[in-house]
Amino acid sequence: MSDKRAGRAGRVVLVGAGPGDPGLLTLRGAAALRECDAVLYDELASPELLDLAPPEAERINVGKRGHDAPTRCQDDINKLLIDLARDGRIVVRLKGGDPFVFGRGGEEASVLEREGIPFEIVPGVSSALAAPAAAGIPITDRRHSASFAVVTGHKDPTRVSRETRWAELGSAVDTLIILMGMRNLGEIVGHLLDGGKDPSTPAAAVMNATLPNQRVVEAPLAELPERVAAAGLGAPAAVVIGDVVQLRSSLGWWEQLPLFGIRVLVTRSADQAGELIDRLRRAGAEPVRVPLLRHEPPEDEAPLAGALAAARDYDAIVFASVNAVRFTARAAERAGVALDSPPPRLLCVGPATARAALDAGIGIHGVASGKSGGGAGALLEELAAFLPIEGSRFLVPRSEIGRDELAAGLRAAGARVDEVVAYRNLPPDVDAAALSRQIVAGEIPIVTVMSPSAATRLVALLDADARSALARCIVAAIGTTTAEALRGEGIEPGVVPERPEVRLLVDAIVAHVHAQRGEEVS
Ligand code: SAH
Repeated sequence: MSDKRAGRAGRVVLVGAGPGDPGLLTLRGAAALRECDAVLYDELASPELLDLAPPEAERINVGKRGHDAPTRCQDDINKLLIDLARDGRIVVRLKGGDPFVFGRGGEEASVLEREGIPFEIVPGVSSALAAPAAAGIPITDRRHSASFAVVTGHKDPTRVSRETRWAELGSAVDTLIILMGMRNLGEIVGHLLDGGKDPSTPAAAVMNATLPNQRVVEAPLAELPERVAAAGLGAPAAVVIGDVVQLRSSLGWWEQLPLFGIRVLVTRSADQAGELIDRLRRAGAEPVRVPLLRHEPPEDEAPLAGALAAARDYDAIVFASVNAVRFTARAAERAGVALDSPPPRLLCVGPATARAALDAGIGIHGVASGKSGGGAGALLEELAAFLPIEGSRFLVPRSEIGRDELAAGLRAAGARVDEVVAYRNLPPDVDAAALSRQIVAGEIPIVTVMSPSAATRLVALLDADARSALARCIVAAIGTTTAEALRGEGIEPGVVPERPEVRLLVDAIVAHVHAQRGEEVS
């Protein structure tokens, strides 16, 4: 048992992960993940949710995938929960959708209760509700439906509950929602029709609901099994049966999203891609994550620790990037240096950097806009609003391969500047051949590039064919410096937002695609 856990009572939080889109996790669920020591998750859990847990938290894949054979049996999972909690840990058991809707959450809670282990239940957005919503099907509607039932389509030979009474359900309930029903769909529909359900009842199957690869097949009930098979739909999917399904023809909003069905390459490092991925998804795109950079602390951390220990000797620390903030904040915490009151003043370049500082819990004294196009001169002018540059002492934490424009500018204006390496950019493992193939095949029509170094690395990674195929892609650069780096590599970016902000980048991509479609139509 570690010191941190000594004497502390462990507990288990059963958290509903929601249907798939990480944005549909509850705030309470996110808070539980942020403070856990271990997380047990099923096969379909999104990596973004696991990223919420502290880096040192143990992540255990217990491999359950719907009703397919789990890699660990339920008894093993129960035992693991008990052992971890007894060891004083806060354990999150992350379960798809809602933990108490066909998720065996009830059984897990009963085991914990029996063992005297404290537990908490954080409900989640069940796929039973989310799948119809994502497909534009209101499950109740005053015009068509006053009731719904959620039914499992899985026949469990060990189940003690009664056989599902399909005939009664079909006539007593206006909207039927069937989970785990894809394998036995033909049989289920047969039972419903035998029970007198109208064969022309509108029905739909929603696969991968709320995820970028969501697919919907709609058909009259009697034809649904055949149409689902023809379209190649499989688990996980929810089946919705009832008159409300017809509302989808006007309320199906997903397919109307501006980037629906378009794959977009996201080259940002995994720890920073969150906002871009989220915004792309909400625009309907399917982000393809190929992080070109991985960030690690410097090999020798002593210079940064030393500079921070002498922080009071500086008039200001200037953070020019999110990583500079993150790694400096981490090093300061480790060294026990509080950067709370000046000197030094803490200055950030750009809103994302400022946000990262707030997230890292360090108070900042000034933010320069870092507007793209402004250049180093404009940035210096902005910084001069916070303190005189001439004669002041600055600390600039940066990457090992960072550009020293900022430091050079400050020095030219008469400042004394110490640059210190706060982090390293390392190449991650990327299947370059596969990426090249996809780009040549036109499967990734939009490519986002978030930094000059990512531009260089992307081009270095691709083979010659893929590099020339990039000319047919929409290449979106976060800002003018990145755009210049791309041009230096012979690639003309088609999209550059007015300011280097993720939101504006996605807006600009949407506008570009919209304009392109307009041209195709006219
Ligand atoms: N507790 C979960 C359900 C677990 S049973 C919940 O509340 O959502 C697993 C079944 O849920 C799958 O077979 C499928 O029918 C459904 N399901 C889970 N995720 C889904 C998704 N993204 N889209 C459609 N159906 C989904």
